[in-house]
Amino acid sequence: MLLISDIKLKIDHDESDLRRKIEKILHHKLNSFEIVKRSLDARKEPLYVYTVLVDIADEDRYLSRNIRKYHKPDLKPEYLKRNETCIIGGYGPSGIFAAYRLMEAGYRVIVFEKGKRIKERQKDVERFFTDGILDENSNVQFGEGGAGTFSDAKLTTRIKDPYIDYILDIFIRHGAAKQIKYVNHAHIGTDEVRKVIADITDYLVSKGVEFHFEEEISDLLLSDDRTIKGVKTAKDTYYCDHLLLGIGHSAYKTVQMLKEKGVFIEKKDIAVGFRVEHDQKLIDERQTSSLIEEANEYFLRYKGEKGVYSFCMCPGGMVIPAMSDNNTIVTNGMSYAARDSGVANSAILIQITKDEFTDGYDYLHALENKAYAYSGSYKALSQNIADFINGDLKELIFPSTYPLGTVLYDFNNFFSASDLQIIKEALKDFDHKIPGFIASGIMVGPETRSSSPVRIKRNADYESINTPRLYPMGEGAGYGGGIMSCALDGIRIANGLIFNYGKVSEN
Ligand SMILES: Cc1cc2nc3c(=O)[nH]c(=O)nc-3n(C[C@H](O)[C@H](O)[C@H](O)COP(=O)(O)OP(=O)(O)OC[C@H]3O[C@@H](n4cnc5c(N)ncnc54)[C@H](O)[C@@H]3O)c2cc1C
Repeated sequence: MLLISDIKLKIDHDESDLRRKIEKILHHKLNSFEIVKRSLDARKEPLYVYTVLVDIADEDRYLSRNIRKYHKPDLKPEYLKRNETCIIGGYGPSGIFAAYRLMEAGYRVIVFEKGKRIKERQKDVERFFTDGILDENSNVQFGEGGAGTFSDAKLTTRIKDPYIDYILDIFIRHGAAKQIKYVNHAHIGTDEVRKVIADITDYLVSKGVEFHFEEEISDLLLSDDRTIKGVKTAKDTYYCDHLLLGIGHSAYKTVQMLKEKGVFIEKKDIAVGFRVEHDQKLIDERQTSSLIEEANEYFLRYKGEKGVYSFCMCPGGMVIPAMSDNNTIVTNGMSYAARDSGVANSAILIQITKDEFTDGYDYLHALENKAYAYSGSYKALSQNIADFINGDLKELIFPSTYPLGTVLYDFNNFFSASDLQIIKEALKDFDHKIPGFIASGIMVGPETRSSSPVRIKRNADYESINTPRLYPMGEGAGYGGGIMSCALDGIRIANGLIFNYGKVSEN
């Protein structure tokens, strides 16, 4: 294959213009081509710059500075009838992609997910967003697709790994737009990602993967030397050779069960804060990409005595109630594919180190309960950012997108004195970077579930360090954060099993 880089086109072009341009470069008619990368050159007149892959005979005659040979790795695993059963607990990105890969390699795969399938889950989430009736097993955190299903489904990651393309190809095969492979800051949007995930599940079912929705793993079966033999649910006992657990950061009950079974778990740092909302125009005004259809995001970071940063920014999105426990308030953000709400939101988080708490879940629950106690309902806490800085509490300068309504609250009562000072310094710094960030913004919160407060420690073979054949994965295990890194973690674990297949089964 040939990799052709530095192909420049004006902003208002379509795919046929790109095809014609490649054909002109090669002096050859194309059957097909694949876009590998598209970036924006906004130095003068804005241009898109493409890198594309072309399958063509007699490659050597085309080689030049911008045209080189490329060998696309085939990452599909070898299919063997493998005489082993893998149980997967949790069907978020880590569970989905581990199941996909293990199925492709020929394992018997059984998936347990405590939440419901997307269609039913969506009804529960919508009922919560409108009536405030929370189902603790079917919500923004729990159910088919995991935590990223009601999200912006941003696919950004800093990880460089050939399996990133493998994951994106699977998303595309099941209905996601092709652009996710080549635009900067790709996102799918909650409306689209729900269809993609449901399609993946149907496909896995057609390939023999066994699914148990609304069935929570409630206990482990261990042999005398602590090796995993199987799991228990309220319905039955199931045996397996390997147990892959991708339970997410909100599975407090399951983590408690693992602790009681003696699985080695340690504390880790977390972050807490609130969402900020601004008119999307304020964010667009400072970015060249507002000229075109690319997302207008921001990434803010302040290095004071502790780190403060923006997280999971949702352009044209909404702030949502993301709790999974009654009598708590947790906010997060999501966007539809069109990102057209006109309001930008993002979390602003301050780092909390593990020395600052005894039990991370208790620490977070205390904050979430405190917010609920003040609100007296699932209405979120809110304040103008300027009022927070000045210790004032006036009516919001515009209403929040949070669907259950908000109550005014002085966030000066939420953080410790030292954290307050750092957060305020950070907000002033962000205001220099985005003028109007303070005067034109509101805060809504709290946001407490950005990562897991524990790490279920594993060894170099991705196994729990004291429970053989247990493979903790993804965000809940403390080995991922975000859709792509958790999906990748699931694949890493599946690959560990696939590549060790003969050796493991002889033990
Ligand atoms: C509102 C929101 C918006 C987000 N937006 C983005 C975004 O735009 N981009 C991005 O990269 N990331 C985003 N994230 C983060 C991302 O969703 C997570 O990092 C990712 O989903 C974690 O994947 P996971 O597989 O580790 O676990 P999860 O996705 O959390 O899935 C875990 C699953 O395990 C199930 N489970 C738990 N315990 C058990 C048990 N005992 N038995 C059976 N099942 C169990 C749960 O029901 C859940 O479905 C967002 C998260 C939220 C909540």
